[in-house]
Amino acid sequence: NKSGKTPRRPPKKPSNNQKDPVGVYCRVRPLGAEDEECCIEVISNTTIQLHAPDGLKANRNGEFKETQYSFKKVFGIKTTQRELFADVAKPLVEDLIHCKNGLLFTYGVTGSGKTYTMTGSPGQGGLLPRSLDMIFNSIGPYQAKRYVFKPDDKNGMEVQNQVDALLDRQKRDSQTSVPKTPTTRRIDPEFADMISPEEACKAGEVDEDSSYSVFVSYIEIYNNYIYDLLEETPFDPIKPKPPQSKILREDQNHNMYVAGCTEVEVKSTEEAFEVFWRGQKKRRIANTQLNRESSRSHSVFIIKLAQAPLDADGDNVLQDKSQVNVSQLCLVDLAGSERTSRTRAEGNRLREAGNINQSLMTLRTCIEVLRENQMCGTNKMVPYRDSKVTHLFKNYFDGEGKVRMVVCVNPKADDYEETLLVMRFAEMTQEVEVARPVDRPICGFLTHRLEERGGPVDGVLNQLLQSFHPLPPCEISGPNDDVTLPRLIDALEKRHKIRKLMVEEYNKTANMLKSVLQEQDSNLLSKENFIQEQRGRLGEKDKMIQNQKNEIDRLEKKSKMLEYKIDILQKTTNIYEEDKRSLQHELESREQRLQREMSEKRRMETRMQGIVTDAKLKWEKECERRVNAKQLEMQNKLWVKDEKLKQLKAIVTEGKTENRQPQRPSREKDKVPAKRSVSPSPVPSSLSSLEPIYNFSQTVRPDPHFPRPGSVSVASCISEWEQGVPHSRRQGSQSPPDSRKRAQGLPDSLRRRRGRCWAREVPVQPAEVDLEETGHWVSRTGPLVRPLHRRSHSAGGERWVDHKPTTNVDLDTVLQPNIPNAIKVNAPNEKALSKCDKYVLTHQEFASDGEIQTKLIKGEVFKTRGGGQAVQFTDIETLKQENPVAASRKRRSSETGPDGEPMERNWTNVETRCSVAVEMRAGSNLGPGYQHHGYPKRRKP
Ligand code: ADP
Ligand code: MG
Repeated sequence: NKSGKTPRRPPKKPSNNQKDPVGVYCRVRPLGAEDEECCIEVISNTTIQLHAPDGLKANRNGEFKETQYSFKKVFGIKTTQRELFADVAKPLVEDLIHCKNGLLFTYGVTGSGKTYTMTGSPGQGGLLPRSLDMIFNSIGPYQAKRYVFKPDDKNGMEVQNQVDALLDRQKRDSQTSVPKTPTTRRIDPEFADMISPEEACKAGEVDEDSSYSVFVSYIEIYNNYIYDLLEETPFDPIKPKPPQSKILREDQNHNMYVAGCTEVEVKSTEEAFEVFWRGQKKRRIANTQLNRESSRSHSVFIIKLAQAPLDADGDNVLQDKSQVNVSQLCLVDLAGSERTSRTRAEGNRLREAGNINQSLMTLRTCIEVLRENQMCGTNKMVPYRDSKVTHLFKNYFDGEGKVRMVVCVNPKADDYEETLLVMRFAEMTQEVEVARPVDRPICGFLTHRLEERGGPVDGVLNQLLQSFHPLPPCEISGPNDDVTLPRLIDALEKRHKIRKLMVEEYNKTANMLKSVLQEQDSNLLSKENFIQEQRGRLGEKDKMIQNQKNEIDRLEKKSKMLEYKIDILQKTTNIYEEDKRSLQHELESREQRLQREMSEKRRMETRMQGIVTDAKLKWEKECERRVNAKQLEMQNKLWVKDEKLKQLKAIVTEGKTENRQPQRPSREKDKVPAKRSVSPSPVPSSLSSLEPIYNFSQTVRPDPHFPRPGSVSVASCISEWEQGVPHSRRQGSQSPPDSRKRAQGLPDSLRRRRGRCWAREVPVQPAEVDLEETGHWVSRTGPLVRPLHRRSHSAGGERWVDHKPTTNVDLDTVLQPNIPNAIKVNAPNEKALSKCDKYVLTHQEFASDGEIQTKLIKGEVFKTRGGGQAVQFTDIETLKQENPVAASRKRRSSETGPDGEPMERNWTNVETRCSVAVEMRAGSNLGPGYQHHGYPKRRKP
């Protein structure tokens, strides 16, 4: 009979994919003491900044500098409890009223204000009393009677019938001394001023056609045991029973619940808070009795809101369990998050503390895994079961619901390190997303209820009834009163008629309405079908989106992988580039070295070439010089031989004509027989007629009238020339053959020098008899040059050095050689030589007959390579004066030497003088030198 209604469904697994991150709020409590060091600064309403206290300079992670953390909202020290509630808990309460679950917990170090935030203090109620107050403010008028809703033992809610509920109420009243009137407030000073009436808060929209009931539970999780703080245990003062721990179970909707946990139905804020306070007291007592520290336990206050539609009467809740909707809000005050070392735990308590820590660790791990699963698309198992706290709230993260966390921090410096850990956990938690609870619109049952209650129809009937004429007086005056009854009958009949009419009308209207409603119903059904259809489509779309999301996740992972690979490749590239650079560098340095070596080589080469060319040049010059010298020597030799031949020819010719040559060496004669005919006749006829005293041919043509055994023949003279021994020397020596031997026995150097001089530069021509020349001398008019040997020089251009040694004897001869333009010297001097090109030496000596014989030895001056002058003797003119008184004359000239040797022997010695003349070097002030060819430094111009 209730099939026409839209069914109310219990909360199921989320069918949507919308998710919201866990809302994390940060609350900074004021410092305990004004002068305490502060390490937290609120820099905006979403960000705080931590800075290391002065005492803690270097953290081992190097995190001693400032760090910033951002949250959904940051509440500074001046934030009031009301402000905090408005931002953090109010939306959760709204959700609760709209059938959505919520979880709110406070997290932080002991003393950071978790309990203050959750519970508050008198005058400054925390989130818990404010939430309760808001709930009752919102649903107050629509609450169901006590015990109408009754929790089953499987986290569900039943609806009791009126009678059972009434019986339960009576039972409760009889058991407790609680005053029946709910308006009477029993004020507990401990929580009296938790909420001031002015601050009352109310949910925006409440389904007024539902009936509500609030149930609260209060549990404590200590050392991974769950204790029910609201359990009524008969108090045994003698042997107090230790509290029994509870276990967790999963209901048919896969929600976790504490099995057998007391759920107290509360009808007002005060009552609810009283229950809470009762639990709080119990907790305190238990902690004291069991020597536990309250800060090491988690306290969970669960507010359950059951709502169900009212029945047709509008008085009672619909007796249909499936129509009951239960939502819950968990308010959790977590244990202090500090590490074990911080507490003064000893012995057993240390173990407990470790466990407590363990449950918070598990919470951390769960959050981490959730985050990883959500961010990386992995499907790791979240270890909810590892601790009771996480297990209990598994469904909030797995299923749907709104999760919020208030991170409490104490800005004091001592807490800095712990606060850092809290901040990291909080930041991580923000990244976890929780499925958004499905929005279940509140369905109005107004029309339906109007129909059920018949409200408006009844009203119309009443109005109609009231508009009828009143019934006529029906008091019968007597037995004969015939008027009253028929009048009444009439009126009633009229009314009956009207009624009939009205019933008809009513039926008609009802039928009409029915048909309209049926129509509407079918409309609604079709709409519902449509909605269902749309839902299906939505599901498909959702699936598609999910698939695409998965694809995106996959691609993201792939891109991450690729990025990683790129990173590695980049690094590898960098390494290779580094290698390349170093290799290039090495290459460059090697090339530089190579170039250096090459240039060194080139330099060496050029140097070597220079040396080679120098040496080559030197040797070439040397060779040239030697060749030249050799050539000259050979020429000279040739020339000498030529001359000898000429002379021989002349002699031969002469011998032929006169036929009285005395000691002619057969050798000479054999040598030059061919040239005899060629020689000219040297004796002109005119000569004999001229001057008888002059006998030019004294040596070569010995006078037949003065035959002398010691006279020098021409042949011997030649042989002497050949041997390089001057006539004068030979003459002074003891024996002629010995003199040759002596000449050969001369010191090597001298012999060589002499040979050289004679051979190269002084190819002295043997004396020659030339009558024609004599004629020139006699006439004193012609030039001093023998026409036969005339050179290319013009006569006027020749200058002569006239060398007359001082030892010469003035002979008063008539014929004196007259050389014009001559430089007269008595010792050979270079200056004079350099100016002239001809040289003549007037030389006196004794002839074999004892007479003085004058020889004019002529030569040509030419420059030597050494820079000196050399004289090449070309002619010897012999002048002889004959005196009949020969002996006296002879003696006179030879008497000068004390040892009988002629004084001028050395000076008149031709060889010596020539040698001196020849070897005079240019610029020399040392006198005659011997080695004028010794320096090949100066080059030929
Ligand atoms: P926790 O529960 O984190 O151990 P409490 O809530 O017990 O810390 O706070 C410790 C002390 O600090 C209490 O005396 C409390 O009154 C005070 N307190 C905490 N937060 C604040 C706040 N925001 N404003 C004023 N006092 C606070
Ligand atoms: Mg506390």
